[in-house]
Amino acid sequence: MTPDEFRQAGHALVEWVAAYRERLAAGDLPVQARVAPGDLIARLPAAAPEQGEPIAAILADLDALILPGITHWQHPRFFGYFPSGASLASVLGDIVSTGLGVVGLNWQASPALTELEQVTTDWLRDLLGLPSIFSGVIQDTASAASFVALVSARERATGYGAARAGLQDGEPPLVVYTSAQAHSSIEKAALLAGFGRQHVRSVGLDAQFRMDVAALEAAIRSDRAAGLRPCAVVATTGTTATTAMDPIAAIATVTQRERLWLHVDGAMGGSAMLLPECRHLWAGVEAADSIVVNPHKWLTIAFDCSLYLVRDAQHLVRVMSTNPSYLQTPVDAQVRNYRDWGIPLGRRFRALKLWITLREQGAAAIRARLRRDLANAQWLAARVDAAPHWRRVAPVPLQTVCIRHEPPGLDAAALDAHARRWTQAINDSGVAYLTPAVVAGRWLTRVSIGMELTEARHVAELWEAMQQAAATSAAVA
Ligand SMILES: *Cc1c(COP(=O)(O)O)cnc(C)c1O
Repeated sequence: MTPDEFRQAGHALVEWVAAYRERLAAGDLPVQARVAPGDLIARLPAAAPEQGEPIAAILADLDALILPGITHWQHPRFFGYFPSGASLASVLGDIVSTGLGVVGLNWQASPALTELEQVTTDWLRDLLGLPSIFSGVIQDTASAASFVALVSARERATGYGAARAGLQDGEPPLVVYTSAQAHSSIEKAALLAGFGRQHVRSVGLDAQFRMDVAALEAAIRSDRAAGLRPCAVVATTGTTATTAMDPIAAIATVTQRERLWLHVDGAMGGSAMLLPECRHLWAGVEAADSIVVNPHKWLTIAFDCSLYLVRDAQHLVRVMSTNPSYLQTPVDAQVRNYRDWGIPLGRRFRALKLWITLREQGAAAIRARLRRDLANAQWLAARVDAAPHWRRVAPVPLQTVCIRHEPPGLDAAALDAHARRWTQAINDSGVAYLTPAVVAGRWLTRVSIGMELTEARHVAELWEAMQQAAATSAAVA
């Protein structure tokens, strides 16, 4: 493809994306894809083409083949999983990033890639109200960042044991503590970092699904008594099912006394800390050793963009660095080499989409949008609280409302089946998209509010649809 062919096809594709977003805003597409497993595979050739095809034919297949298989995350009535906004400003940033086609192996390999990342992660840290002792790096996902955090914790506890015998040095096992509501990526990180499932403690919860600090202390005591080595605590700001807020200050008192690594998983909830009125929800966070917040969730930076902040950057670099001759440069002592701040060597220019979006929107507009979403969640919570046979299962500190419809006369199993049936009916209808989840052993429905296009009226439309779907489902129960 020549630059001029790119110009023409690129204009057509920008037009295609813009028209798609307009259709989403109009709300007429079914939110959930209406395809069966294997539908697309059956429509695609088994082998790659031997001869090139005209770009127009390829673009036509976007409508014919690809769009039917899309569940529309950017739809104003997408209430599933978590909000993962992809603001159009951040889409432009991604175009520039891939258009430049540079790879950030080190500072010299594209100085602007590193320095823009340094500045924008500082901007975000400051917007989150965090002290300047923290420094940041953009990772692909919170899963990767939490893995890096647990490896860093392991290496601090072992005095950089990876450079010797690693975890095979015959010392007593290291233990990681997290809550029973922590994201699945935490257990995965602990397993991959070599702790072993036997040494991951799932600490109990209080009535609001937050980590029970007394239970944490008891677990640490009993592990020490058994000769094990407590190593790290992962606290969550905004758990996956209910956005519960683990009490960071009380947990930090324990981690400081016991000299444990404290990692705060704020992948979803951390974004709320752009709002000063929310910061009490993670009070004590300054004591963390590491923090992860995903701008690719509620902050509308197109996936992927995960902010990993550390208190001791030197420690991180010592744990992560490799320094082969072909990557050394004369300026290494003066610059950041972000390959030493995470796992991959090659790095994309992710800071561009963050920079363009923060500048184009401005912090004030982002805060206003977050406040809109918090208010919409409170509105829905109040409707649920006031409606007969509807029950709100958890507090609503952020933008997620956990709901059960409990018509009289149904036993526990029938209520679980009812919850899944009416939620599925809404998804199948295309009107909205919701995710059911199990909390405290029971099925409930999560309404996760916060897509860029989601206004109060879309939440009101959802509430109407929920009442209808639940009534229909209850009639067949
Ligand atoms: C979404 C989420 C994750 C995982 O995020 P990825 O970036 O997809 O790895 C981890 N923890 C919490 C609390 C989350 O909400």
